[in-house]
Amino acid sequence: MNISESKRLFAKAQDFIPGGVNSPVRAFRAVGGDPIFIKKASGAFIYDENDNAYIEMINSWGPMILGHNHPIIRESVIQAMESGTSFGAPTAREIEIAELIISVVPSVEKVRMVNSGTEATMSAIRVARGYTGKDKIIKMIGHYHGHGDSFLIAAGSGAMTMGQPDSPGVTAGTAKDTLLAPYNDLEAIEELVRLNKGEIAALILEPVPGNMGLAIPMPGYLEGLREICNREGIVLIFDEVMTGFRLAPGGAQELYGVTPDMTTLGKIIGGGMPVGAYGGRKEIMDFVSPSGPVYQAGTLSGNPIAMAAGLAMLKYLQSHPETYGQLLNIGRKVSEGIKKINLELGYDYTVNQVGSMYSLFFTDQPVTDFESAKQADTGLFGKYFQAMLQRGVYLAPSQFESLFLSTALTDELIDKILEAHRESMIEIHK
Ligand code: PLP
Repeated sequence: MNISESKRLFAKAQDFIPGGVNSPVRAFRAVGGDPIFIKKASGAFIYDENDNAYIEMINSWGPMILGHNHPIIRESVIQAMESGTSFGAPTAREIEIAELIISVVPSVEKVRMVNSGTEATMSAIRVARGYTGKDKIIKMIGHYHGHGDSFLIAAGSGAMTMGQPDSPGVTAGTAKDTLLAPYNDLEAIEELVRLNKGEIAALILEPVPGNMGLAIPMPGYLEGLREICNREGIVLIFDEVMTGFRLAPGGAQELYGVTPDMTTLGKIIGGGMPVGAYGGRKEIMDFVSPSGPVYQAGTLSGNPIAMAAGLAMLKYLQSHPETYGQLLNIGRKVSEGIKKINLELGYDYTVNQVGSMYSLFFTDQPVTDFESAKQADTGLFGKYFQAMLQRGVYLAPSQFESLFLSTALTDELIDKILEAHRESMIEIHK
C-alpha cells in the first residue's frame, strides 16, 4: 500500500507539533510504522491522503455509531452553521439535548454540557468533592478518564500505551488524593474504604472499561460498588464517555441495571463534534455554579454547532431503537467470527465483547483487569495491526484499546474483515 503522502505529512508535522500528532496514540508508536493521515471519511470507510480506503473499526474512538459523515448529522450541522458558530449565551437547543439525555440516562436528573470527556470527568470529581466535603477519590488501575491531573495515575489508553502511567507534571499533592484499586475486585475497595474511612468523596470507573482493552464487569461487581458507596456516602461516578448511548440508550448503567450518582458522557453525544457532559442527581448537580458554590464554566460549552450534531445523533438513536440490536449483532458477528477463525488456526486468544465494542487480546488467559490485560503479547499485536492495515482494515493502534463498530458495517464488509483477520493471523504466526 502506498502511503507516501502520510509519510511526507508525518515528517513535516514533527517539525511543528509534538511528536507530529495532537493526541499521543495517533503516532502509532505502540505498533510501529508511520501513522496514516486522514483526508475524509464516509460510512464504514476512512480514506488516507493517498486515497487508500480502510474499513473503520475505531470510528473516531467511539462517536460514529452510525458510521462517518452520516447525512442526518451533516445536514443538521450545515443548517445550524447558517445561524452562526458560537454565541457564548444560552440557546434552546441546550435545553432540548439536556432533556433528551435526562429522559434516557437513568442517573441523570440535571446535566451540564462541556467540551470534552476530560472536562466532564474533571468537573464531576470537583462537584463530588464540593458536595461531600471530602478530598480523596478512588479510580481503577488501567482506567482512563481523560488527562486531568487526578486521573493520570495508573491511567489506561494512551498513558498505558506510551508507558507513562504516571505523568511528570502531576504533583505529589494531587496524586496522594487518588487511591487506586484493581477493576473487578470488591475486596480491594473495601480495604481502601477501611484505610481511608470518611475521607473518600467519589469512586469513578469505566463500568465497562475500554481503555486497557475491553474488560467486562463480573456479575455482582457494579452492584457491590453501589452498595459500598451507599454505605460510605461516596459519590459513585460512571464514566460513560465510551459506553453512554453505545451499549444501550442509557449506557452501561441501563445494560447492567446499576444506577450511579453521577455520569460523565463525551464524544458520542456530540455526534463527532467536541462535546462532553456530566450529570447526576439533582441534589448533587445543584452544587454546580451558578446554582451552587462549585465553579465550572466554558466559553464554548453548549456550542450551537456541537449541540446540533449531538441532537441529530441522539434523536436518531431515540427514534430508531432497533439500532442497538443491529450494533449487538455486528459486535457478535465480528468478535465470534474472529474467535472461530483463531480456533481453526489453533490459537485460543481472548476476545472480550460487549455490544459493538470488542478487543482481541494476544493471550490465552482471561482478561478481567489491568494485570491480566498486560499479559497480552504487544509485539504480536503490533504485527497484527500492520497486517490488518495492509489489508485495508483500520484498527486502534494499541493492544490496550477497545474497537468500536458502527451500523455502517454490512455483512459483506464483515466478511472482508474476517478474511483480512484470517490472512493476518497466518502471516504474523509464520
Ligand atoms: N473517559 C473515557 C472513558 C474515555 O475513553 C475518554 C477518552 O477516550 C475520556 C474520558 C476523555 O475524553 P476526551 O478525549 O474527549 O477528553
